[in-house]
Amino acid sequence: MFLPKRVLYEKDSENYELGKYLLDLYKSKNIPCDIIENHNNIEEMRKKENSEFKDMKQNLIIGIRKTHKFVENHKISNYLVPYTSSGCIAMCMYCYLVCNYNKCAYLRLFVNREEMLDKIIKVANKSSDNLVFEIGSNSDLILENTITNNLVWTIENFAKSDKGLLTFPTKFGMVDPILNLNHNGKIIVRVSVNPEDIIKNIEIGTSPLNSRIQAINKLKQAGYKVGILIAPVIFLDNWEEKYENLIINLCEKLSSEVKKDVFFEIIFMTYSFVHRAINSEAFPNKENLYNKDKMTGRGRGKYMYKKEYRAIGEDFFRNKLKKYFPNNEIKYIV
Ligand code: SF4
Repeated sequence: MFLPKRVLYEKDSENYELGKYLLDLYKSKNIPCDIIENHNNIEEMRKKENSEFKDMKQNLIIGIRKTHKFVENHKISNYLVPYTSSGCIAMCMYCYLVCNYNKCAYLRLFVNREEMLDKIIKVANKSSDNLVFEIGSNSDLILENTITNNLVWTIENFAKSDKGLLTFPTKFGMVDPILNLNHNGKIIVRVSVNPEDIIKNIEIGTSPLNSRIQAINKLKQAGYKVGILIAPVIFLDNWEEKYENLIINLCEKLSSEVKKDVFFEIIFMTYSFVHRAINSEAFPNKENLYNKDKMTGRGRGKYMYKKEYRAIGEDFFRNKLKKYFPNNEIKYIV
């Protein structure tokens, strides 16, 4: 169980059942809980040094989500939906949330979950299509669930609604709390994988590969729709060998049920000037993910792999997945 070093909360959070529960819990454990004006703008956090990044991730912010704007999406869902959390207590060195929130990618929990789920259900019911809502683009809901039980609450309540599907990605294996729920086939869980040494050294604080593979098998057995994200692909030395071993490992350990219809998404890593600055000071002994020969700028301090490397990567993954997973769809490679 994650116990923060300090909790910062908006006063009104106490008026919500979840907010009250969390604050009572942390106060009973003598964790300092201090009031903030606005979860979006915590001056003392903004002013911290890059070297304090790891320490900052030990804070927990509790607030109320005020903006509920759905963003159209055309990859795997119809809309990206801001949901019950943003940020995370893990520290993947490429996490795009770091890029968006700078150093402030600590976990923020939003206690007005009823309001957020109601809006999704209303939009789903109004549409003539069976819309898919991505609720996990700002955090990791399997991880968040270990603190709030929000995912269990969400699945139980959404399953009763008439229309629509929910989806989210995860890098964690703690799926047991959702296995026995009546999800009604309305949830698509996409488990993100990478070679074990990348998980250990770069996806700091996430679940080991084996635990994620077991999670995929368990979810499938529990009737969930499942997908696999190979993401982000990082072109380190010997990347072909690392990723082929990963695909072989998946092929050997995934159940035949999963292999029947699991789909893949492949995403190449993007990186940024902000990541470089934070990682070099917070993790000075870790591998430098910036590679000036293989990367190119993509505006405003962001980097992506050059076209020629992405083309080589795309060929590689199409060939290897055809060999080991001939019957499975690749939704996209980007
Ligand atoms: S698990 Fe996801 S949200 Fe958390 S640090 Fe890693 S990439 Fe970011």
